[in-house]
Amino acid sequence: MVGPEAPIEVREFPEPELEPGAALLRTLASEVCGTDVHLWHGRLPEVPFPIIPGHINVGVLEGLRGEILDLDGKPFREGDLVTFLDVHETCGRCWYCLVAKATTRCPHRKVYGITYSAREGLLGGWSEKIYLKPGLKLLRLPAGLTAEAFIAGGCGLPTAVHALERAGVLPGDTVAVQGCGPVGLWATALSALGGAAQVITLGAPRHRLALARKLGASATIDITGLSSAERVEAVRERTGGRGADVTIEATGAAEAVVEGLRMTRDAGRYVIVGQYTDSGAVSLNPHHDLNRKHIEVRAVWGIDYAHLYRAVQLLARWTADLPLADMLTRRYRLAEAGEALRDVENLRVVKAVLEPAAG
Ligand SMILES: [Zn+2]
Ligand SMILES: [Zn+2]
Repeated sequence: MVGPEAPIEVREFPEPELEPGAALLRTLASEVCGTDVHLWHGRLPEVPFPIIPGHINVGVLEGLRGEILDLDGKPFREGDLVTFLDVHETCGRCWYCLVAKATTRCPHRKVYGITYSAREGLLGGWSEKIYLKPGLKLLRLPAGLTAEAFIAGGCGLPTAVHALERAGVLPGDTVAVQGCGPVGLWATALSALGGAAQVITLGAPRHRLALARKLGASATIDITGLSSAERVEAVRERTGGRGADVTIEATGAAEAVVEGLRMTRDAGRYVIVGQYTDSGAVSLNPHHDLNRKHIEVRAVWGIDYAHLYRAVQLLARWTADLPLADMLTRRYRLAEAGEALRDVENLRVVKAVLEPAAG
């Protein structure tokens, strides 16, 4: 990705030399995430174009220099099927790492596929091979979890895991989910798995809402043609007029935030996860929308290793029961990356996956 709105180019790079502690991954699958579309639209500042996008990846370890151990102390081997946390170089020494314990806000944080330039190496997944820097946090897929099933969870699942951690859904709660892209779909599934009595998913287009129902939504609301007030009313009429106990925003549209506050009950909780890139400003009434509602608002920035780890464990447990094949609408070869990006941009697919090893 050479710059905002510029055509995607395929470029050749030399095979990298491994420094001590580094490894090389042969990429089996890399997601084309909504964030990649936002990057391409120039909505995230300070992206060092040209970049190799692809922040959620899975592949086969092809080379290692020195010993790299997993969480259980077992060494990684060539041929292992692994993923890794895209976030790298969180320092463990700064105020945010040590005091706030919020590594996602560490100022030294770097992200594969987003904050590394292609000039720095193969540091993104839209590439036949990915250079795994020393200290990168790898995760071996458990037996029975395929690369395909993992990428069906993709970026949306660990992001939704983080959102659910912040949401604190209790058994019997009613959860409203705004948005039915991958994050909204996984927030729907996790709410249902976590014991919500009702999960109401709002979004469009229809094929995504149908998938939301397969993943556990008890009701879906097609937002096409509905006013903001009508959407709020649609949630209220399913909740005794009160609104949802917990609402999770996963839309990427700034206007959705005011609407989400209003579809949440008084003294409920609102979790904002869909504003990873800048979608503009909105105005709200602090008296009506915040204080008087006695509402708790929480926001989510990125993921840490725990969210990726939990996502992988959950997928391994439920892989046969979840409609994972339905998440993966289409696979693309590397040369088709531009087309994949446009398909995600225009919501023609639920999830687009690049398969660089396929040529
Ligand atoms: Zn730090
Ligand atoms: Zn993503």
